[in-house]
Amino acid sequence: KGKRAFIAGVAGDNGYGWAIAISLAAAGAEILLGTWVPALNIFETSLRRGKFDESRVLPDGSLMEITKVYALDAVFDSPEDVPEDIKANKRYAGSSNWTVKEVAECVKQDFGSIDILVHSLANGPEVTKPLLETSRKGYLAAISASSYSYVSLLKHFIPIMNPGGSSISLTYIAAEKIIPGYGGGMSSAKAALESDTRVLAFEAGRKHNVRVNTISAGPLRSRAAKAIGFIDMMIDYSLQNAPLQKELSAEEVGNTAAFLASPLASAITGSVIYVDNGLNVMGVGV
Ligand code: NAD
Repeated sequence: KGKRAFIAGVAGDNGYGWAIAISLAAAGAEILLGTWVPALNIFETSLRRGKFDESRVLPDGSLMEITKVYALDAVFDSPEDVPEDIKANKRYAGSSNWTVKEVAECVKQDFGSIDILVHSLANGPEVTKPLLETSRKGYLAAISASSYSYVSLLKHFIPIMNPGGSSISLTYIAAEKIIPGYGGGMSSAKAALESDTRVLAFEAGRKHNVRVNTISAGPLRSRAAKAIGFIDMMIDYSLQNAPLQKELSAEEVGNTAAFLASPLASAITGSVIYVDNGLNVMGVGV
């Protein structure tokens, strides 16, 4: 039978989440999306108006079907955590059941179970600031949106994940090597995400027979990356210095996610898998 995937962090067609959805759909999976509440309206409207139709084409010529889009804000675990100003915010008041716990409950009600959980989201309000100039608030916000959001998603979805299931997140080399410009505690958040991948792999493997891996992706001109401001420089740097001198496509990351989600990867868990044209193995630029 076909597998069902929930992909958190898709609000357009130019990020890694979308590419992962395409690769999973091409492999026969049913696609459910979790879209950040403030981005939901424009995403659904664009989807309905056919704005993404060109990017929805699968290798067999058909269009990817998205079975359901859920509103999600992964920095809130349950309704008690939501502050008044967010509750009152127009963009949030228009949707309901968007805390992590509620989304998992809705998916359970709608579909019973899932096989694949993808976390493709990050946010660091002070990402453009060096770590030395980052506030406590900005640092904790980066960790909350980019690292704990994953712990929370897995915690709430694992009870409805079928045994043999697979969970994947997206990380960046800045977790382990200095990447000037990736600030605001985002490097710290990715380091936490990679460490948590190992601990969660142990806990989820023993308890639920679910695998947990993270893809360390090379630079992609996504919406989030453009906000950091140095993405063109990182793409040029990779073209210049990586073993494979080509631009990385989101599809290459999508295909790796499909592999990791499949039985072909049945012994791979707790790993950081590099999909970066090999840049991570270089010691110096050349
Ligand atoms: P993207 O903009 O497509 O994805 C980020 C998504 O996160 C957006 O859809 C945004 O709406 C969502 N989001 C932000 N805060 C949220 C919240 N609180 N709740 C729910 N959703 C929220 O950009 P992307 O670059 O494809 O990012 C996807 C993942 O890939 C991130 O984890 C990112 O760190 C990682 N990554 C990106 C690159 C790159 O160069 N673009 C490289 C390595 C890793």
